[in-house]
This record gives sequence, C-alpha cells and structure tokens, in this order.
Amino acid sequence: MNTKELDAEYVLPTYARTDIEFVKGKNATLWDKEGRKYIDFTSGIAVVSVGHGNERLSNALCEQAKKIIHISNLYYIEPQARAAQKLVETSGYDMKCFFGNSGAEANEGAIKIARKYGEVDGEIKRYKIITLKHSFHGRTITTVKATGQEKMHNYFGPFPDGFVYAENIDAIESLVDDHTVGVMIELVQGEGGVEPLEKTKVQQLAKRLKERDVLLIVDEVQTGVYRTGEFLASNLYEIEPDIITLAKGVGGGVPVGVVMTSKKDVFTAGDHGSTFGGNYLSSTAVCEVMDILNEAKEKGELERTIKYFDAALETFYEENSHIFTKKVGIGMMAGLRCRDAETLSQVINESRAAGVMVLKAGRNTLRLLPPLTISKKEIDEGFEALRSAVAGL
Ligand SMILES: *Cc1c(COP(=O)(O)O)cnc(C)c1O
Repeated sequence: MNTKELDAEYVLPTYARTDIEFVKGKNATLWDKEGRKYIDFTSGIAVVSVGHGNERLSNALCEQAKKIIHISNLYYIEPQARAAQKLVETSGYDMKCFFGNSGAEANEGAIKIARKYGEVDGEIKRYKIITLKHSFHGRTITTVKATGQEKMHNYFGPFPDGFVYAENIDAIESLVDDHTVGVMIELVQGEGGVEPLEKTKVQQLAKRLKERDVLLIVDEVQTGVYRTGEFLASNLYEIEPDIITLAKGVGGGVPVGVVMTSKKDVFTAGDHGSTFGGNYLSSTAVCEVMDILNEAKEKGELERTIKYFDAALETFYEENSHIFTKKVGIGMMAGLRCRDAETLSQVINESRAAGVMVLKAGRNTLRLLPPLTISKKEIDEGFEALRSAVAGL
C-alpha cells in the first residue's frame, strides 16, 4: 500500500488532506515524492520557524539524541533550565516557565494557573475566563470550550463551565464580574483571520485588568517566537501579561508547549505536570531555535527579511486589488482578505499547482506564515508562483 492507502486504512480521518507527499526540505523550499519543488509560505502552520532541514537545529538534536532523549521531570534537566532562562531573558518579563508539548496543553496550563489563583486568592472563588469570538485556543475539551467559535462546540459536551465570550475587545471589560479571574486573548487572531487587535485598546485593557486583579493571559502560540518581528507580540504591544503561552514556532518543529507566568508561586509541586514536557530532546530544540533567532534579530537579518517580504506582499496586493480587499497581519504573520471564500479556495488550489504553499484563515483570508529564515530568492520565487496562480482569476 502507498502512503495514501495506508492513511485511509489506518489513520482516523480528522483531516481533509491535500494530496502531496513531501520528502525533503531546505529552508523555505520543499520537494515532493515526484521531485516537484514548492516554496513554503506556511512553515507547517508557523512551526518551522528556522526553516526545513536547518543544519544547526538538526546537529544539536542529533548530538543530544545520542546522549539522552528523555529522563522524566523527576530529575534536573540541564537543557530545560537553559531553555527557560533563554525564554525569560529574551522576553524581558520577570517570569518562570512550565514545559508541555502543544499549544492546547500550554493553554490548559495557563487556565489551571488562573483557576488556582482565583481559588486561593480572595474570598469568593473566581473561575471565569473571558475569551474573544473568532478566537482559537486548541482542541482539548477545555480549550475547545475556551475557543469562541460556536461551530466548535457542536459535540463533545458537557464542557467545563466558566468561559465567557466577548464579541470584540471593547466588550471584554463589561463582562468582568466578581467571578472573573482571567481574560485570554490572541494579539493577532491567527485562525480567526490574521486580525491584529488595536494596540492602544490592548494597553488600556491590560491596565484595567491589572487594577481589578484579573489576569491577562496572552495566547502567543502562533504570534510568539519572532513571528511578528519581536520575540513576543506582547513585547510589540508593550504590555505585561500575567501569563503567556507559546508552542508552534518555539521548537522549530519539535513538539513543545510553554506556559510563562509572573505568578511564580501559584503552582506548587504536584499541581501540574507532563511526562514528556521539557525533556532533553525538545528543550535542546528550544535552546537552538532561540539562539538562531536571537542572532537573526540582533544582526538585523530578521528585520530585513520582514521588510523584503512585506514589500513583495504589498506589490502583489496592489497588482491584484480586484481579488484581494485588504492586507492584514503583522511581520511574518501576514494575510490578504479575499473578495469571497470561493475565490480564496481557487487561489489556494492554483497556488499549489503553481508551486507555492499558502494557508487559509477564517472564512476568506489568505494566510502567509513563511519560515523566519526565508531567503530573498525564495520570497521572489514564492510571489512569482502566486502571480501565476491568480493570473487567470
Ligand atoms: C495552533 C494554536 C493553538 C493550538 O495549538 P496545538 O499545538 O495545535 O494544540 C492554540 N492557540 C493558538 C493561537 C494557535 O494558533
């Protein structure tokens, strides 16, 4: 049986897969089984932050794998401690980290910290968490419920209580009551349509929440690790969240989820845990990814790449204003609002045929999340392919 047949026979059908099988990658370029070449404007959904086949990352992982891959959190783990130091120092926040394995798990951890904080601090038990409509926070029972999209709550109930959805950022404050312990937001909604929140509104909200001792949880699973040009979108927005979650880009493709918090004393031994979280292999990935990207940031490479990509996107947008109605996003988390959902699916199909991989977000947004290390040549090739993809539309 070939891969497609094996998948059909043995893998649960939770994904409507595109019929391509990749076998090799180099930075933002991928090759499929037939030897066809593609430019990757997706990074495996914001994951492959340092590109495919990154030599520094793969060497670090190979070296570590030959020594110890896993030993459990019952012992001290040097790369985990170093990864935490790098994340905290780069963030500029006075925080500590917990390591898990995915974005949903990181958000679960964040919610647990908030819930415990609301339980032990003050007289009435505070447990409610406000999230936004069109948000996305994960696929576990709790994070599905935290996600403010009704269509995701069709099955799987009963859900945990205590999630309240705000129509938009302006509506959050009026929903805070005596039982509210936290507000969880993405600063740029990824799945919701690459929609950045307004900076002044976020700063205002952060200030009000602090006054009321309501925790601000920023889900940076997609925006984090230099996706917006700064290490965290929270840095860019110049706010000081109480809890930040990371995942996608932080391990460069190795599964890692992180909860960072300034509430360092809420969890005590036994409150939370993870068998795999922060093991030698995944923490080594975090250390190497952080070193690579911190260097790219310091040398100005990241900024140059973002500028070049943004200019190319702007040109493409202006040439195709009959198809796209708005340019959205920040940094390397970019999008183009398409005139309608049908045209968007045509754009995506034609892009694949033309040799460039792109994503959809929300109902009608073309989403572009290239590796942060993408070369100018790859950017040019990607937009050339996009041009030929939309030529007939
Ligand atoms: C992808 C994503 C998640 C879920 O991450 P998983 O690793 O798939 O569990 C949560 N929040 C945001 C903002 C995301 O983009």
